[in-house]
Amino acid sequence: MKLILLGAPGAGKGTQADILSKILNIPTISTGNILRAAVKNQTPIGLKAKEYMDAGALVPDEVIIGIIAERLAEPDCAEGYILDGVPRTIPQAEAMEKNGVEIDCALSLEVQDETIIDRMSGRRTCPACGASFHVVSNPPKQDGICDSCGAELTIRKDDAPETVKARLSTYHKETEPLKAFYAERGKLKEVEGKATIDATTEAVKEALGL
Ligand code: AMP
Repeated sequence: MKLILLGAPGAGKGTQADILSKILNIPTISTGNILRAAVKNQTPIGLKAKEYMDAGALVPDEVIIGIIAERLAEPDCAEGYILDGVPRTIPQAEAMEKNGVEIDCALSLEVQDETIIDRMSGRRTCPACGASFHVVSNPPKQDGICDSCGAELTIRKDDAPETVKARLSTYHKETEPLKAFYAERGKLKEVEGKATIDATTEAVKEALGL
């Protein structure tokens, strides 16, 4: 299964990607997590990406296209993968097509902007392994500590309310047109994000025939 998860920031792509990754036994590839690791390690890509990320803007296409081509060539991607947060623009999707990436489905998680703004204030992220939690809907077992690796959870800088609004506006302008792009290719499935993670997972599984 080669799956793209589309949807606004905070729609639940990362959470559903992690769940599907375990069910299907294929890796999740999150360009957001790859970029955050690069920023933390102050690599050349990280140094370039930081200002865009802090502002809620998109990192330039050529940087993303390079990252994704390299990552998809790794052996663990041979049986399939879940793309979380990429492609995010038409040029990224076109570059993937040009590189011979054939996907089975682009699944768009539909959530209203107002719901997202409310949700983002409760998000907590692990700076070490990228796992994502929510103080109400998906709390870690121990307050403030990552279930997966034990690191202290943080609030992402770009989850501040003003930056969330900028990210939503970027989403509507640059990323939402991908729905038409994949619909034209007969690959689009739209799923309404539900109030709970489990209910959303059920809707996603049904849409994918799992
Ligand atoms: P995410 O964790 O997916 O919300 O990504 C966090 C930030 O990383 C975004 O707001 C962008 O600045 C950057 N980013 C992640 N993926 C992409 C992408 N495919 N294209 C451009 N920028 C990206």
